[in-house]
Amino acid sequence: MMSANALALYKRLTIKIGSALLVDGKTGRLRSEWLRSLAADLAALKSEGRSLVIVSSGAIALGRRLLGLDGISLPLEQSQAAASAGQIALSQAWAESLGEHGIVTGQILLTPNITEERRYFLNARTTITTLLGLGAIPIINENDSVATAEIRYGDNDRLSARVATMVEADCLVLLSDVDGLYSAPPEKDPRAVHLALVPTITAEIEAMAGGAANHLSRGGMQTKIEAGRIATQAGTAMIIARGTDSHPLKALTEGARHTLFTAAQSRAQARKRWIMGTLEVAGSLHVDAGAARALLSGKSLLPIGVTGVTGDFVRGDAVRIVDPEGREIARGLAGLGREDADLVKGKNSARVAEMLGLGSRAELIHRDNMVVLAGLEDKAT
Ligand code: GLU
Repeated sequence: MMSANALALYKRLTIKIGSALLVDGKTGRLRSEWLRSLAADLAALKSEGRSLVIVSSGAIALGRRLLGLDGISLPLEQSQAAASAGQIALSQAWAESLGEHGIVTGQILLTPNITEERRYFLNARTTITTLLGLGAIPIINENDSVATAEIRYGDNDRLSARVATMVEADCLVLLSDVDGLYSAPPEKDPRAVHLALVPTITAEIEAMAGGAANHLSRGGMQTKIEAGRIATQAGTAMIIARGTDSHPLKALTEGARHTLFTAAQSRAQARKRWIMGTLEVAGSLHVDAGAARALLSGKSLLPIGVTGVTGDFVRGDAVRIVDPEGREIARGLAGLGREDADLVKGKNSARVAEMLGLGSRAELIHRDNMVVLAGLEDKAT
């Protein structure tokens, strides 16, 4: 049985707020009462020790009114101008509403090249997790005013899924104007049935998604299902819930109807597949026999066991780990760039901490960021 509190299990949540919730479709104004109720819910979740990342739409919808732009669909340059004006209002609304609870907000505007290009990705992730560490709530949107037509998410459903996987959230909550997935679009088919649980996104599930929702929000059920695919493959569960009424998150903790998409694999498994599958290898760390044995028994790679460093890599790049016989025994994400790795190789942890000021995080590759090749064969299908 599912718990009545849909959020009980999750410690790190990414919450996506659709434009239709934040902005009144008729007046084009911010729904400030509603936002106040959401801010109270967020403050309550945060006070329970959860870390929260918000992906907020609404810039274009708010900017339209500010700039006097009407019409169902705007040409690209006008929607970019609307986003530019609206984003200021949107950030201000978030800063004020969460500020009432003593919560500081940080704004981050992303585009696909930032979430997909490793250098930028690592920087953006570090900024977000640093904000979380400082007790702030990051508020994220697409950088619509500069994104090009070809290189943009265009909908915040998929963007929020990438953000959720980037920050390794346990759950992505999509607050929208529907309370979940139905067997057919409910406005068209009276026999449509609500699905409480989607264990796997099959072709049948995809076929259930209809077209776009309304003129304010870009995404429909299709982009939500795509978001579900991105999130669940990376080990993040996803919830679709109706957010239109006041206190939508509190409602979820009290049993409100929603659809839960369960994670397809654990985040650790997902990360290991990703290390093996999608990354270019930028260099090699040669290790001595003792370190090779330690790695095979599940330990992290410490600088003291490293005898040589080759290639050209920065922190976070994938590197090979090579044993004294020249065999690749593991692959992982380097905790240090090439120069630092070279500097600390063969040194003990105390010396490394002294040299780099790293405190207790002296490993060159943490075991969570490493895949031992021999152990992988059974699992990789
Ligand atoms: N980024 C867009 C905005 O802030 C919203 C995209 C969407 O509706 O999904 O207006």
